[in-house]
Amino acid sequence: MPDRAPQPVDRELPSEEARDLISLVRDIAQREIVPRAAEEEDAGRFPRETFRLLSASGLLGLPYDSAYGGGDQPYEVYLQVLEELAAARLTVGLGVSVHTLACHALAHYGTKEQQVEHLPTMLGGGLLGAYCLSEASSGSDAASLRTKAVRDGDHWAITGTKAWITHGGIADFYTVMARTGEEGPRGITAFLVPGDAAGLTGAAPEKKMGMKGSPTAQVHFDGVRVPDERRIGEEGQGFAIALSALDSGRLGIAACAIGLAQAALDEALAYATDRRQFGRPISDFEGLRFLLADMATQIEAGRALYLAAARLRDAGRPFAKQAAMAKLHCTDTAMKVTTDAVQVLGGYGYTADFPVERYMREAKALQIVEGTNQIQRMVIARHLAGPESR
Ligand SMILES: Cc1cc2nc3c(=O)[nH]c(=O)nc-3n(C[C@H](O)[C@H](O)[C@H](O)COP(=O)(O)OP(=O)(O)OC[C@H]3O[C@@H](n4cnc5c(N)ncnc54)[C@H](O)[C@@H]3O)c2cc1C
Repeated sequence: MPDRAPQPVDRELPSEEARDLISLVRDIAQREIVPRAAEEEDAGRFPRETFRLLSASGLLGLPYDSAYGGGDQPYEVYLQVLEELAAARLTVGLGVSVHTLACHALAHYGTKEQQVEHLPTMLGGGLLGAYCLSEASSGSDAASLRTKAVRDGDHWAITGTKAWITHGGIADFYTVMARTGEEGPRGITAFLVPGDAAGLTGAAPEKKMGMKGSPTAQVHFDGVRVPDERRIGEEGQGFAIALSALDSGRLGIAACAIGLAQAALDEALAYATDRRQFGRPISDFEGLRFLLADMATQIEAGRALYLAAARLRDAGRPFAKQAAMAKLHCTDTAMKVTTDAVQVLGGYGYTADFPVERYMREAKALQIVEGTNQIQRMVIARHLAGPESR
């Protein structure tokens, strides 16, 4: 059975332009994304043409400077766009979030020359990005990464293997963190590597529990030569750049999680209204009404939390603690709400005839990516303990 159209959420948006943007996204979601979601996820097919359409519609560079092809949108608008996309299909919402994460380093730390040369195609030229921090032996402890970049005249040679890379093997550009100096966080440098660089190869995608349409793969770098003009920021600044990207990226994951949870609630509500037992719609029973009320309340709370963090970011204020809180709360909410949605559908919820079983499998990934929820608690606790412990 195809996914149902998500119910429109009544959004608080700051401008007419933002309202038009949300309408455009809903239209694309209903026409292009929702009808193919279940079948393509089942087949493990990445919707490359959807990303070309999103790029052509100006939706792959929303929070960046329009001087370089971005959309000049505040984060509170960009995140609500992501939420709408993720409600239609998580692979698409998460893919846009990862692409935006991959653009962060150059957009915030690149030189003017680098930005003029590369950003327009990255933000609106149909290209797809990937962000390469994790390795097989360094996940939560990302600063212990081993992929090396060695200087060779005015070039660098990158050697090593990145793991768990969303869009690995299909991306047009990779933002890569590699070791150029001492052990630990201060010996890491960021590079912008083209997807067709000689010596760069993607492994076969991991066989995941969910989001099968979103390829997650190892990426091998076998002496990949990158000119020094593609180094982003200073030597040794790469880890700070990677973390700064993740602060914003976690808000993207939070918004995707709320979109997924909203889609699960919409499905559960529609089913509970249709399904009759004991001569009445099951939505008449208090046991289910309270479950649905809790699901809706957690979603509203999550949306309010990520939007509050986004508004701090838009105002130029510190937001890292709130971003970690939003990632933690919203992804735990997605896990809980999608699990409860399966419960509302009873036995049918446990089959692939309805999308809620897929939503539940997909939600699990969100508690792991861009820092597990244990790591989010560590980030929050460090902020609570004061600046000297960060
Ligand atoms: C679908 C998917 C997509 C991904 N996409 C990307 C991507 O595009 N780019 C990228 O760079 N990475 C990506 N990742 C990798 C992801 O960021 C890592 O999986 C994550 O950071 C956890 O690392 P790990 O898997 O090595 O687990 P580990 O770090 O080995 O953790 C294992 C367990 O130990 C816990 N743990 C570890 N340290 C602590 C601690 N100090 N205190 C308490 N608990 C701890 C963790 O919370 C976890 O429960 C992706 C992962 C997935 C599953």
